[in-house]
Amino acid sequence: MQYNFIANQPTASSSDRRIAVIDPSDGQVFDELQRSDAGDIDAAVVAARHSMDHGWGRLTAAERGRMLMRLSNKVAEHAAELALLEQRDCGKPVKQARADATALARYLEFYAGACDKLHGETLPYLDGYSVMTWREPHGVTGHIVPWNYPMQIFGRSVGGALAAGNTCVVKPSEDACLSLIRVAQLAAEIGFPSGTINIVTGYGHEVGDALARHPGIDHISFTGSPSVGTLIQQVAAERHCPVTLELGGKSPQIVFADADLDAVIPTVINAIVQNAGQTCSAGSRLLVEQSVYEPLLERLGAAFAALRVGPAAMDLDVGPLIRESQLTRVGEFLASARDAGIATVAQGQVVADAPSTGYYQAPTLLRDVPVQHKLAQLEVFGPVLAAMAFTDEDQAVALANATQFGLVAGVWTRDGGRQFRMAKRVRSGQVFINNYGAGGGVELPFGGVKSSGYGREKGFEALYGFTTLKTVAVRHG
Ligand code: NAD
Repeated sequence: MQYNFIANQPTASSSDRRIAVIDPSDGQVFDELQRSDAGDIDAAVVAARHSMDHGWGRLTAAERGRMLMRLSNKVAEHAAELALLEQRDCGKPVKQARADATALARYLEFYAGACDKLHGETLPYLDGYSVMTWREPHGVTGHIVPWNYPMQIFGRSVGGALAAGNTCVVKPSEDACLSLIRVAQLAAEIGFPSGTINIVTGYGHEVGDALARHPGIDHISFTGSPSVGTLIQQVAAERHCPVTLELGGKSPQIVFADADLDAVIPTVINAIVQNAGQTCSAGSRLLVEQSVYEPLLERLGAAFAALRVGPAAMDLDVGPLIRESQLTRVGEFLASARDAGIATVAQGQVVADAPSTGYYQAPTLLRDVPVQHKLAQLEVFGPVLAAMAFTDEDQAVALANATQFGLVAGVWTRDGGRQFRMAKRVRSGQVFINNYGAGGGVELPFGGVKSSGYGREKGFEALYGFTTLKTVAVRHG
């Protein structure tokens, strides 16, 4: 049984209701969570406020940095244990789960170092005045986390908020809580003040909604779907609570004829099959200049056909999807492609010994997907790549910008002028030229435009979102 973690203690929900924890690799229940309610959010907010006033909020920036560095080291020591939790909870192949634990340690390391580098400015003003700006924490921050990368999203969101001096109430996805409960325990073990990191589990429409509405929450960081992002904005608007929204994507990989196809192929594949395509920044659209369209699809098709899908513990190219309803949803997208006469270039293989009760989807490469079809417009959140051809730069830009999203784009060309023209003309929060997300990007500001959200997490930029600016004007005669 997993309990909430409030005021540095495992805490049973007052509701006494449970949620089953299912292993996506075999569809079997292996644990239980608290199905918390608004009363549990209340308790977590009280604890977080107490730490703001008497614990974390009283530490100097340097002390916060040292605590975060200790947590980073502790996470690194427990990386194998944390990875195993996400492997089981989320169906992540071993390599991916380990990479996520390593990324969490790195986020905490980055934000540990950033704590005492964040400062305001002095401003020229009237004669006899001194004016300065202070960067102050919001106070108690709420963090609503999705199931696809719990540790990474906790690292960038909670790491940044803590570095800026806030305390946190975290609502993980009902489908992926185990690693975050353990990280909060580790923080308590190394001496984080009680109430600094609180974890409350439960359903979004119950406890997530209660968190977003709570008058004691001073800032909300939401990572999830655009539709829930809309609800969060509406709820937060009622009390003018600031919000950072990290929503979905339909990110294009744009390949020109002069690109190095040997570099394109593995990167394009990884960008759509990593975490079984359940990645906000998945490169889910492939836009290819007409003259290399056929040769590239032929090579990509061969590589897709060789991809193997199976249980997380087998550590193959692709693991299961998170839950049965997600498998059904991806299946419906593929059925709609078949109905529209969209051709499949190739599919990977689910290995024979994968349990039939697991949620396995073979990676699929589709070709000539019409720009208005939902496979070219909507987030599938599965390992499905939609390819289409373009004839020139203008058409590439038009196709790239033809969705409601704008999170990440990849541009592949050796032409220096085109690299910069494309980077300017494509509407998205990040543009990668001749790479795609290389190095993980802990240091690089991340976030969207349009329906991909607003505000930035990752990098130093995140600290501006997790603080509010106070201007202090002193008249000294
Ligand atoms: P989701 O929106 O269904 O859920 C996200 C979180 O919101 C969960 O914790 C859920 O319990 C909670 N929630 C649901 N309804 C709520 C409500 N009414 N009020 C408050 N909270 C509520 O998303 P998901 O299915 O968990 O994750 C997949 C989505 O997340 C995709 O759209 C993906 O692109 C997006 N995502 C974005 C980023 C990014 O950084 N841009 C990163 C990861 C995932």
